[in-house]
Amino acid sequence: MTPQPDSRGFENLALELEQRREQHLYRRRRLLQSPQQPRLRCDGRDLLAFCSNDYLGLANHPKVIESMQRAASRYGVGGGASHLVIGHSEPHHALEEALADFTGRERVLLFSSGYMANMGVITALLDKRDGVFQDRLNHASLIDGGLLCGARFQRYLHNDVDSLCSKLDASTAQRKLVVTDGIFSMDGDLAPLPALALACSQRNAWLMVDDAHGFGFLGASGGGCAEHFCMEQSQLPVLVGTLGKGFGTAGAFVAGSEALIETLIQHARSYIYTTSMPPAVAAATLDSLQLLKEEGWRRAQLAQLIARFREGAEALGLELMDSSTPIQPIVIGDARQAMAISEQLEATGILVTAIRPPTVPRGTARLRVTLSASHSDEDVDRLLEALSSSCKGRGLTDE
Ligand SMILES: *Cc1c(COP(=O)(O)O)cnc(C)c1O
Repeated sequence: MTPQPDSRGFENLALELEQRREQHLYRRRRLLQSPQQPRLRCDGRDLLAFCSNDYLGLANHPKVIESMQRAASRYGVGGGASHLVIGHSEPHHALEEALADFTGRERVLLFSSGYMANMGVITALLDKRDGVFQDRLNHASLIDGGLLCGARFQRYLHNDVDSLCSKLDASTAQRKLVVTDGIFSMDGDLAPLPALALACSQRNAWLMVDDAHGFGFLGASGGGCAEHFCMEQSQLPVLVGTLGKGFGTAGAFVAGSEALIETLIQHARSYIYTTSMPPAVAAATLDSLQLLKEEGWRRAQLAQLIARFREGAEALGLELMDSSTPIQPIVIGDARQAMAISEQLEATGILVTAIRPPTVPRGTARLRVTLSASHSDEDVDRLLEALSSSCKGRGLTDE
């Protein structure tokens, strides 16, 4: 073993990296050499990939590409300034209005990324007089916003409404904000939003949902958790969506009341102190929103692929999580084993990412399979065959 560094000086950076490598936690980037799509080129090889969040296959859709090109010709490339200076352009405004209409909320505000939206909302709404209550499996951007805002930070047990209620009941905070992922990004399960909303309304708390993975997949028109559970603005006052997943573009939005959005414009530092997203990205998103709403066959195709995958994986005896969404993790447990299987899959031409601590709790390393409407039945069957041979002999399958 590499010796433990005995001080935290900068001279120990290389030593710390070496330790990380020994723990099988070292991360490296892959080089993508094609558009984001199931059959992609990566590090010089053609692979069949099950790891993007482009659930509907819109990231490389000809209509979306064309509208981005058209808007770039008309508005140029860079936003050029922050929204409050002179960076708020027509495509941004039109997209905000279209998203407000789509989500049935009074108003929407665009952010340059989901990370920034979550940081911005939580820090704009809360300070040290307040309390923030988060599911313990929430996305890092929500956790970071909660830590930064200065409010008392409490985590409740995953999807456990009783655990939340006991913390809310004991709290003397002025504002209480309950924050959850809609679909959990590493587990694929849904938050019990109606029960959470009821708990909030009985305790004078607000509910904030980050529905990064729900938009496009859940709801008859892709409206995400809010549409799936029929939740109005009064029950779900802070709704966050991201544009880099189901929408296939980039950026994020917050949907809610007039007062919420104006508060964010006045106080959300990650909104105020940054350049607006390129207007052409907003223009492209207007078209991807249209496709997302209207092409229901993409949701139907996804649902069909999810069922096919789960049935096949269960038949192999693999341990799946309680997920009905395009996020279908296979629990491996040990980080080294998860890496080894991921590498073996890749040797057969299939790309599935191994997710290790600290992204997931220790001892729950997993292969995170994600499905997209642009996968075919044959793609899923190829994945299942490869999983069958890679997991055999490791005590993970019924053999
Ligand atoms: C991806 C993700 C984000 C971050 O969104 P970006 O636009 O990629 O910054 C936030 N929350 C959740 C739950 C996510 O999965």
